[in-house]
Amino acid sequence: MSREPKPLPKFKLIPKVKIGAVELPVYLDKDLDDHGNYASHPGQAIWICPQEESSAVRTVWHEALHAIGDLYGLPLSEERTRVLENVLLQFLMDNPKLLEQLKKHHGKKKKPTR
Ligand SMILES: [Zn+2]
Repeated sequence: MSREPKPLPKFKLIPKVKIGAVELPVYLDKDLDDHGNYASHPGQAIWICPQEESSAVRTVWHEALHAIGDLYGLPLSEERTRVLENVLLQFLMDNPKLLEQLKKHHGKKKKPTR
């Protein structure tokens, strides 16, 4: 049974995501059976199949969570990844000021108190 080739997306796919010190390339795979895939071997990368932009962005986010689990030794089941995908995104959307403050202070050392 031959498959129809999926059309290439009309939007520009994000080329990579940064997780800690690791930059994961994001590749398009028109033969991928799933929406997306995170592979840690032989090269760490996120693969997504051609899909609508809103779905592709969401898939990259989902696969990045799998990658975080893998890179930090926190294996996440598919079910837990999906829960985090929804809960974390909603949390970030619902708390933009907290995110701004976190970004502002992330990596800054506390001044010594006298
Ligand atoms: Zn998954």
